[in-house]
Amino acid sequence: MKDYLVVGFGLAGLAFTSILERNGKSFDIIDNNNNINTHRVVGGMYNPIILKRFTPAWKADEMWHKSIQTYQWFEKKFNTTYVYPFQIYRILQSSEEQNNWSVASDKVVMRDYMNPTIKMENYKGIKAPFGFGALDKVGRVDGEQILSDYKKELSTKELFNQENFTYDDIFMRNDTVEYHGQQYKHIVFSEGSNIVHNPYFNYLPMKEAKGEMLVIEIPDLSFTKAIKSSCFMVPLGQQKYIVGATYNWEDKSYELTLNGKSELEKKLQSFLKVPYTILDYKAGIRPTVLDRRPLLGQHPKHDKLWVLNGLGTRGIIYAPALAELLYDAIENETELDNELNINRFNTLLN
Ligand SMILES: Cc1cc2nc3c(=O)[nH]c(=O)nc-3n(C[C@H](O)[C@H](O)[C@H](O)COP(=O)(O)OP(=O)(O)OC[C@H]3O[C@@H](n4cnc5c(N)ncnc54)[C@H](O)[C@@H]3O)c2cc1C
Repeated sequence: MKDYLVVGFGLAGLAFTSILERNGKSFDIIDNNNNINTHRVVGGMYNPIILKRFTPAWKADEMWHKSIQTYQWFEKKFNTTYVYPFQIYRILQSSEEQNNWSVASDKVVMRDYMNPTIKMENYKGIKAPFGFGALDKVGRVDGEQILSDYKKELSTKELFNQENFTYDDIFMRNDTVEYHGQQYKHIVFSEGSNIVHNPYFNYLPMKEAKGEMLVIEIPDLSFTKAIKSSCFMVPLGQQKYIVGATYNWEDKSYELTLNGKSELEKKLQSFLKVPYTILDYKAGIRPTVLDRRPLLGQHPKHDKLWVLNGLGTRGIIYAPALAELLYDAIENETELDNELNINRFNTLLN
């Protein structure tokens, strides 16, 4: 018998697996992402502030303080760098926006992040006549690289199975749950937006938000900060940048669209005045929940089945902190906060 089967190895599955390893638990992973036909997109930015409204995102500051420890654990484990702090420079569009920035930066909750001084700096190729508002303590985690490095190690140890999970093959036993002849104490589902195909948890109100992004190269621009205008432009180093992302609540496909591409290029060209080349183009689906809160907890009828989902637009910040909360709930029977607990949707279960 093993302790856990983890289904889905995105940011949520990765974070949960790292806790299992640190606690000496036995486990297997199942994930169907093959990196060729990929629909898992990891933009990687961590930013606890909603820059549209100048307000903190829900519990993001608190969660990030917990979560960064997991990324640092991976840095130590693989002796490499995954966390890249930088500033975000928000392009201000008018003197009114300059004023709004100054007012917001004076709020107690924002002082740690928003720099009160408007930056009137000139950068060749970036149009910003009203200057920039600078946001500190933000950056990027190279989630794709952690996933790839960890997957390699887990595969070598024969703990990683690259396959589709077959829901019909679960059998509930007295003290365990059986899958393909192996007994587990618990199954944790961390399938992202694909939870809509999970017959045990598809009653939960997932509201998928498709997003597309570009990876571009700008030979004439070596900028180390992220730019926020009508879209983000995030530095990857060596004149490469991520440009993103779109939001589409109707299209549930993982296809790249011409509309998405042209929307991003239009937004990019509103502030970028030097040539660029598109190197890559990605589409994914954000696992967003109707009430914009995560989905954590135990199935109301099958006590060996658990879920870790609903990371929405901020998987980097939330995944490790939420994985810890779920692990504590399973192993130490700690209560999950009502805002996170899937039991808030019990009335939706037939
Ligand atoms: C364009 C875009 C840009 C983004 N940028 C950022 C950003 O900058 N910062 C940030 O924090 N967040 C960002 N996000 C959001 C972030 O990507 C998500 O919050 C995060 O990926 C969710 O992680 P997850 O592990 O829950 O799901 P996923 O990443 O979707 O991982 C789920 C995994 O489970 C596997 N799976 C699902 N079903 C099965 C099955 N039946 N059998 C086997 N395997 C299965 C999938 O293949 C996948 O590998 C962005 C999202 C998009 C789309």
